[in-house]
Amino acid sequence: MRYPRNVDVWEYAPGRKLAEVVIRVKSVRGAVAVCNKAVAEMGVSILDGSVAATRPSRTATWSFSVDLTDSSFSVKGFRERLLRLPIVESVQIVPSQDGLVVDEQRFPVLWGGRRAVILRADALTEMVDRLWDVFGTGAATIIDQMAEAMGRHSAKEVVDDLGRDFAKDHLEALMGTYTALGFADVALEPGWSSEPRLTVHARQLFECQANIKRKVRRRSVFFRAHIRGFVEEIYGAEAEVEEVQCLAEGGEECSFRVSVPAAAMAPVQARAKAREPDPQS
Ligand SMILES: [Zn+2]
Repeated sequence: MRYPRNVDVWEYAPGRKLAEVVIRVKSVRGAVAVCNKAVAEMGVSILDGSVAATRPSRTATWSFSVDLTDSSFSVKGFRERLLRLPIVESVQIVPSQDGLVVDEQRFPVLWGGRRAVILRADALTEMVDRLWDVFGTGAATIIDQMAEAMGRHSAKEVVDDLGRDFAKDHLEALMGTYTALGFADVALEPGWSSEPRLTVHARQLFECQANIKRKVRRRSVFFRAHIRGFVEEIYGAEAEVEEVQCLAEGGEECSFRVSVPAAAMAPVQARAKAREPDPQS
């Protein structure tokens, strides 16, 4: 079961009194619950929000958007009431203009503690499409190189943070970042019987879904190269990635066969084998 993740960039509700709220609270257990209770008591509906508590900071930040339309509190009154709570250090509120409020208070955007930019899948496929239009089949090389570099870069950060041995042994979990980032709903199937290889099952892969929309029967170029860069950097070995089934060609999902040298595959295979039910029992 997967649940959609909403990145709260802007809210628009004509005729409603919306606001973006950022509260800094002392980082103690239950701090957000105390604020939450106060917000509910003021008859204010929370639309979306997130809590960020970074150690060793002594404060946590709770950011959320609210609808104040049905509350008797003004933006000013709402803020003052929250400031009266002893655990609250600061409250910043940006009210909506004509029902529109954009989250400008939180910057920079961080992913794993590093700078990130949020890009819509449509915008990315539009960029890639432009390359196909301009360069024809030559676009494949440009997209391949670009995506491989991106995959390699992501893996480099993983190796820096976790170490290569740990990353190799937890490739299955790490491939989950493709799901977390919205590329596709990804599952990994280790193959260990005849030749060393993995199969990456990618459901709803954004790239091939876009090809279907544009009626282009073209297999993945971007994602395939991204995986190659990612896996090669994690294993420190050359990998081959082939898309053996594709949504854009009428397949149920996109699946990629990843082959890497046997020696590099050993830990993953061992883990997969360990999970196999024992035929003796
Ligand atoms: Zn595909």
